[in-house]
Amino acid sequence: MSNLEREPEEVVLHGAGGPEVQILEPRDVPLGGPRTLSVRRTLPQRSRSLIGAWCFVDHYGPTPARADAVMDVAPHPHTGLQTVTWLFAGAVEHRDSVGSLATIRPGTVNLMTAGSGIQHSERSRSDARGLHGVQLWTALPDAHRHDAPFFEHADAHPLVIDDARLQVFAGSLDGAPSPVTTLSPLLGAQLDLPAGGTATLPADPAFEYGLLVDAGAATLQGRPVAADELAYLAPGCTAITVTAGDDPLRAVLLGGAPLGEPIVMWWNFVGRDHEEIERYRADWQQRVGQGPSERFGAIDDPAAPLPAPTLPGVRLRPRE
Ligand code: MN
Repeated sequence: MSNLEREPEEVVLHGAGGPEVQILEPRDVPLGGPRTLSVRRTLPQRSRSLIGAWCFVDHYGPTPARADAVMDVAPHPHTGLQTVTWLFAGAVEHRDSVGSLATIRPGTVNLMTAGSGIQHSERSRSDARGLHGVQLWTALPDAHRHDAPFFEHADAHPLVIDDARLQVFAGSLDGAPSPVTTLSPLLGAQLDLPAGGTATLPADPAFEYGLLVDAGAATLQGRPVAADELAYLAPGCTAITVTAGDDPLRAVLLGGAPLGEPIVMWWNFVGRDHEEIERYRADWQQRVGQGPSERFGAIDDPAAPLPAPTLPGVRLRPRE
């Protein structure tokens, strides 16, 4: 992946009473490959690395309904994180080195816990109409980042609060059980409101929150949030009020207790220092050249694995 776009913009709106809302603008990032899918990335960016344990927010589509498979990502590695795939439309086939083969469609969540190391491939299916969704990562806390890797595929938990229909796909909201394993206190949910609708959701004051608007326009705690923007809310809220504009609103609500651990994120790896990332990269490059590796196992996918980029000439520094 390479970021060819402008520097992300950041706007902080100070309001009287309650935490400020920080607007994080997306930047376009091509994922590469023969049929390039461009994603809108709102996390991480210069002004913010994390929302709770959420450390990566990619938003893509809708792609044309009759397009060929537009996501075609060959085997590549991950460490120290979970990947969460959530679709609004389309279907993506997932394969990994713990033996999983799963097709994800709207209403179901794929959660892959990389722990000490995993490799996977992802391809959108051309028999589904278009592709539209998000890929999110959580950084694993130190206590779990060396766990053995595993994969889960589950239905989201539906909830109705005021005018909002919610689908909780990770963590919990209002006591709803999480459909998948989360390893720090967090929340991930799709939120839908009809045109002009409004909802006041219970919030955990220990959490920080992010609202990514997919369709329509939102008002969050009285501040406007446009499509493709990620609005950040600092800890301290006991309730979150979201209102839709003149069109129906579709958004993704993220939340979590601040991770409180400096992390180093580089390419597909999350670690704690430069040397650790160097080790992960070397372990993967060995796999690229010679087949199965101790850390990343083997995958039943004939495509050539993606080589890691070259490390920058400077030491990678932790971010918080
Ligand atoms: Mn991946």
